[in-house]
Amino acid sequence: MKPDKPISCKAPRSPDYLQMSLAAAMTLGLKEGLFYRNARLYCLNLLLTYPEGCRANCAYCGLQKSREGDFGHKSFIRVAWPTYDLETIIQKTKEHKTRLFRICISMITHPRALRDTLYLTQRFQEEVGLPISILMNPTSMVTSDLQELKKKGAQMAAVALDLATEDLFDRRRGRGVGGPHRFDRYWSMLELTAETFGKDKAGCHLIVGLGEREEAMVQRIQRVRDLGARTHLFSFFPEKGSRLAREKPCPVNQYRRIQLARYLIDGDYRRAENMSFDDQGRILSYGLMKSEVEQWIESGKPFRTSGCPGGGLEAACNRPFGDGPPRDIRSFPFALEEEDIALVKQQLTLDDRDFQGRSPAARVRPGSEPQGGFKP
Ligand code: SF4
Repeated sequence: MKPDKPISCKAPRSPDYLQMSLAAAMTLGLKEGLFYRNARLYCLNLLLTYPEGCRANCAYCGLQKSREGDFGHKSFIRVAWPTYDLETIIQKTKEHKTRLFRICISMITHPRALRDTLYLTQRFQEEVGLPISILMNPTSMVTSDLQELKKKGAQMAAVALDLATEDLFDRRRGRGVGGPHRFDRYWSMLELTAETFGKDKAGCHLIVGLGEREEAMVQRIQRVRDLGARTHLFSFFPEKGSRLAREKPCPVNQYRRIQLARYLIDGDYRRAENMSFDDQGRILSYGLMKSEVEQWIESGKPFRTSGCPGGGLEAACNRPFGDGPPRDIRSFPFALEEEDIALVKQQLTLDDRDFQGRSPAARVRPGSEPQGGFKP
């Protein structure tokens, strides 16, 4: 089989086939292209695939069942996810193992998802040997499955709660869209994941800009941290073909404020209760001296991608340009340079009125148009 050609089989199905992010395909040499600013990917992000697609209907997701088109051709977190056969993926991962620090297997809502994830976890554990994370789908699982995943070799696990509040969760993923997901099930699975995998071995995905107040998001991040887990943050980006395709991306100043709050909470430097908010729930202060806040901003660290760690990196899972195009980077997949920090500082001072009626992407780093093969 030619390595640079995705499988053209009419109905590829896990576990024999998997989708992977475009960045992962480029890292394994299965797709040609260069990353903007020489970003590198350190986590192989894999996604289960079935001809019937995902059974859920999350309003913001490109994989929702109500979106027209073949599952394998739908985009997910902004980029294409080409399909390859498992044997090729394992072989290529072994060849490029020194470039990677982690593998992540993402479940979707499908009756076979758990069984296939267990099989795949064992195969990758035995044949590749990199640390494995599972992005779980609590709707397709029972609590004892957590132990099974661990036994098969999963080292970390995450739950994509995505929404900060129960009400928003129900509206965007549950009853509001005729979807099968329920907040209580997601939250209790996260609690149990933190217990089963241990401190700092559980993650919770949260998307900023889906209608929540900043205060609610900060409180949720603290509740996740109090379980011993950490938040993996995303900036809302309107996914083509999703119900929210016409919405605006998360205002960049809102995302920057939440990134800073998350970094302080997850690093146990500050708690949500130390922070203060205005009457619309926006962060007013972090409960730190101005000079301390400035130091954190100058470090650039709070604005990097948050995800599962590996290879000495706070986030091996750096998902290059997964929540914003190269001309409007939201989660930086690399260390920030001086110009990036200057831009972030400017973004933090933007007034919310700047975003009325236009995309916050209008304010970008000068000369930061995408180059190379990875284009939005
Ligand atoms: S942060 Fe990355 S590696 Fe961890 S669960 Fe999420 S997608 Fe997977």
